[in-house]
Amino acid sequence: MSISNLKFDEKGLIPAIIQDAETKEVLMMAYMNEESLRNTIRTGRTCFWSRSRQELWWKGESSGNIQEVEEIDYDCDGDTLLLKVKQTGGACHTGHKSCFYRGIKREKEAEKVFDPEEVYKKALDSDILDELYDVIKDRRNNPKEGSYTSSLYNKGENAFLKKIGEEATEVVMAAKENDFGEIIYEVADLFYHLLVMMVYYDVSLKDIFKELESRR
Ligand code: AMP
Ligand code: ZN
Ligand code: ZN
Ligand code: ZN
Repeated sequence: MSISNLKFDEKGLIPAIIQDAETKEVLMMAYMNEESLRNTIRTGRTCFWSRSRQELWWKGESSGNIQEVEEIDYDCDGDTLLLKVKQTGGACHTGHKSCFYRGIKREKEAEKVFDPEEVYKKALDSDILDELYDVIKDRRNNPKEGSYTSSLYNKGENAFLKKIGEEATEVVMAAKENDFGEIIYEVADLFYHLLVMMVYYDVSLKDIFKELESRR
């Protein structure tokens, strides 16, 4: 099948779904025109057509988050592309690995849970922090292939200390934008990275709770 058999729409564009070749995670969707597709095939790096800027857009040209193309699939009727890539950094301009980090059902659930009384009740009998702490500790003691936590410990303490700074900044940005779902997401990210650090320095949740208790 040659490019000319693909069905570009009336504006000369074809949607390209970008997937992580290894994890199969769907990373993003963008449009290609014939020229950007030819560029992609020729160089092995993704090039798209930016509808907002009306220009060719080499993914990663400003962020450095390039995509190295392993395969270019097309669907049954040739009107959609699926590119399997090796992604450097996050695919999304927000810094997330995937653009699809939000979800209507997830957010509906989160809103339900945000009834303050419910949150309080749940927090009282939730062991999630304890459980997460134990899982992180296990990932540290028994490194696991493909585990993000293990890879953080492998890279050394600077890796997760840097993440704590980044996640804290993202919490601040989410709060400033009044983005409710994003605040939850980023605070959870921050909690997780704080736990990674606490496990590393052998600080327990009890130590923190005791300290908070003593300030009552
Ligand atoms: P980059 O190609 O990563 O250097 O980003 C350059 C510009 O492309 C950004 O400022 C965004 O406007 C846009 N951009 C990058 N990644 C995405 C994405 N996944 N979805 C939509 N727009 C993006
Ligand atoms: Zn189709
Ligand atoms: Zn995005
Ligand atoms: Zn985005």
